This record gives sequence, structure tokens and C-alpha cells, in this order.
Amino acid sequence: MIIVTKRGVTQDEVDHIRERVESLGLRTHVSQGEHHTVIGCVGDESRLEGVSLLAIPGVDTVHAVMRPYKLASRDFAADPTQIPLGGVQIGGPEVLVIAGPCSVESREMLLATANSIKSHGAKALRGGAFKPRTSPYSFRGLGEEGLEILAEIRAETGMPIVTEVMDTRQVDLVASYADMLQVGARNMQNYNLLTEVGRLRRPVLLKRGMSATVEDLLLAAEYVMSQGNPNVVLCERGIRTFGTATRNTFDLAAIPVLKQETHLPVIADPSHAGGRRDLVAPLSYAAIAAGADGLMIEVHPQPETATSDGDQSLDFPEFATLMETLRPFVAAAGRVLAE
Ligand code: PEP
Ligand code: MN
Repeated sequence: MIIVTKRGVTQDEVDHIRERVESLGLRTHVSQGEHHTVIGCVGDESRLEGVSLLAIPGVDTVHAVMRPYKLASRDFAADPTQIPLGGVQIGGPEVLVIAGPCSVESREMLLATANSIKSHGAKALRGGAFKPRTSPYSFRGLGEEGLEILAEIRAETGMPIVTEVMDTRQVDLVASYADMLQVGARNMQNYNLLTEVGRLRRPVLLKRGMSATVEDLLLAAEYVMSQGNPNVVLCERGIRTFGTATRNTFDLAAIPVLKQETHLPVIADPSHAGGRRDLVAPLSYAAIAAGADGLMIEVHPQPETATSDGDQSLDFPEFATLMETLRPFVAAAGRVLAE
């Protein structure tokens, strides 16, 4: 249930509305917009039946949210949510590019990558220290050593770092290093992990599961938010279909659908979606044109030697070209590339 307040509602009136709703055993969530305030009510809505909510001073309209997700739904926020990372607001007018290797392999390669992507306009550095690999015999990341390298490179370059957390037992460790915690596709429905990252306030990059519907993704975000962490960024990274031409099938339509359904920022990962370096640029352009708030791109100094995802990683000149050729698409979408 959503309560929208009248223009010029006072803080006392908002407090009173919340007290009334909470006294009936529901939780409230306030979103202050430029023009009005939205009070979302979560819990057993049948308890509100027979209560004259419209008679409470300051209440303008009351309507039900039919979606299974509440806190993540577009109705629950007065304005789109903006999440700060590296001096940029994800979900604001600026489009943000996060880039870096699939896996952190060494200090040298990460520093070289960070310097290069930074000089071409990337705003955050990604790199996996704990890697979810399909085969247990593949390189599974440097673990804590990888986190230490990420933190060192952040100190040297000033770039915020985004890295994956795979296990509830590692949430505190990864959060002690990362500016943004990535929950990967394979863990999108790991509800214990979502609950743990929900206890923090650190921004969470939630990647769509390979067989997850848009609703599944939004309900996964709801898990994080219902624990008190409102800082969730969604990521379309392709889904499994019968198509074999690409590693995954990039669900472009999911981007505008998500933007309609939720107030949370939405970014795209064309690297994992296509699985091929030659597809990264066209899929990036399409994502921006479709309304994505940002991109996450895999970049490696020497893709052919990468310990993971070399086929889809751009080298430095390719990343530079991508950033240059992206500009007209960003402008056409009515946005600006974060500088
Ligand atoms: C990654 O970002 O390197 C990764 C493993 O992505 P995903 O979880 O989308 O497969
Ligand atoms: Mn990868």
C-alpha cells in the first residue's frame, strides 16, 4: 500500500501517518520527492481495511501495489533512486562506466588496467577476487590477496572498486575492501547471501540470474532492500536461451522494462551477455539507447593471456575506442558520460 501525501505536508503529519500505520503492525518506508512524499506500507495490508487513511491529515491518495515486490517497485519512491559511487550518482543524468578485468591476476596488470580505463573515462574499477567458475579446475581467483591488490590500486588511482562476494561467510571480509559488492548471476537467488548484503549499507550490484525473469530479479533486490539496504543497482547480463551464437542472450527489452518497474538504477554488462569482444561495442550502444544508467565492461591488458573471460575482454585501445564511440549514443539518450 502506498500513501501519497499532499503538497506541503508537515513533518509532524508524516510522523503521525507513520505512527498510525505502524500501530497496526505494518512497516513504513518514506521516500521524499521534490514535490511529494510517498509512504510505502509493507506487511499484512488486510489490517488497513476499515481504516480511513484518507481522513488522516496530510494524506492525498492511497493506492495498492499489486506487484509482489514493494520496496523495489517504481511506486514506492517519489523519484528515481541515485546511488553514489566514485563521485558519480548511478541513476542520475550521468552514465557511468565500470571497467576492469574479469579476475584480478596481479598488482601490475590491475594497475595498468586501472590507469588506462581511468584515462578514458571509466569511473570505477571492477575485478574478481573470488570467482564463480563453472569448472572447479578453472582459476577461481586470488581470494583475499586479490582484495588487497584492489585496495592498493584504489589508493593509487582513487577509483572505487567493485568486486564479487560469493558466500555469506565472506561478506564482512569483502565489504571491508569493496566500495560496491557484486552479487553474481549464479548467486542472484542465494537468499542467505542477499540477506547478508542487505544488512550492510554498501551499494550492491545485483546481476540477473541466467534463468531469472525480471520479476525474479526484482524480488532478489527486494530481499536486499527488506533488510534495510536501499542501495541496489541492477545489472542485465544476458540470459540462457536456445540461442548458441552468443554466450548468453542479451535481453535488451529488460532494460526499459526494469526502468518502468523500479526506481533502482539499471546497468548492462555486454561482456558476459555476448561473450565476444566484437559484440561489446554494439551491445553497449544498444543498452545506452534503451535507457541503461551505466555499463560494466571487461578490460584486460592482454586478453589472450587472461585467466578468465579473455574472449570477451577488450584490450586498452579497444576500450578507448568504445568510450569515444559511445558518446553520440549517450547524447542521443539525453544523458552525459560521467567525466
Ligand atoms: C563477472 O562479472 O565476472 C561474472 C562472473 O559475471 P556473471 O555473474 O554475470 O556471470
Ligand atoms: Mn567475467
